[in-house]
Amino acid sequence: MKLRVFGSGSQGNALAVRSGETLLFVDCGFSCRELNRRMAACGVAPDAAAGLFFTHDHSDHCQGLATFHKRYPQVPLYANGNTADAISVLTGVDDGWRVFETAETFPVGNIAVTSFSSPHDAADPVGYLFDDGESALFVGTDMGAPTFGVRDALARATCAILEANHDPVLLQTSDRPVSLKQRIAGRCGHLSNGDAADLVREVNPPRLKTLLLAHISRHCNAPYLALEAMRAVVAELGRPITLDVLDQDTPSPLYEF
Ligand SMILES: [Zn+2]
Ligand SMILES: [Zn+2]
Repeated sequence: MKLRVFGSGSQGNALAVRSGETLLFVDCGFSCRELNRRMAACGVAPDAAAGLFFTHDHSDHCQGLATFHKRYPQVPLYANGNTADAISVLTGVDDGWRVFETAETFPVGNIAVTSFSSPHDAADPVGYLFDDGESALFVGTDMGAPTFGVRDALARATCAILEANHDPVLLQTSDRPVSLKQRIAGRCGHLSNGDAADLVREVNPPRLKTLLLAHISRHCNAPYLALEAMRAVVAELGRPITLDVLDQDTPSPLYEF
């Protein structure tokens, strides 16, 4: 499989994964113009996707949809029912939806898609496992705490995009309101660097070759802190795992796994 992450963080999220002829997108969290610019820079055609999958209804994951759907109405939109409803209300896009049940597995082209619940303060958030039979991509961001479904999907991944949102000390000492700090650190908020590291240590995914740290907070984290926490775990696991951080402003390199 091939993966390109167009950007990751609280200002916008979008990625493309390909297996053979099947191209899928996850989230549409940039303006359509910005997403087009980033896709063009990476040689990805926006109208070539067999599906655009949504994790949840926060604006950093769906704010570009209204214009994207107007320009590329042939790209089917996938979400569970509650998320599709919430995004319809938010963006006015009420056609083109293909609604699935969380945790069911279904094929789109070459890729088997499975979703899992992700505890987060949105309508009905999910993460995904995209599996083409040889490789599997785990997408898990925007979650306050890992669940059984999260662990099960991560255990099957050959490449994982995992949230390492904040450093607890930087979060507590930041000038954010107490209520927001509690939301971010709570069970329906975001994983900290330590939470992400603990999850990888606990699951010890046997096939994992590439681990990409995602949704890193600009003000309450730093890439080197997220990397430092995870490097220690990767060293403990004792297997060659490529570790990288995803950026908000710059598309990732092309990952093949
Ligand atoms: Zn987000
Ligand atoms: Zn969110």
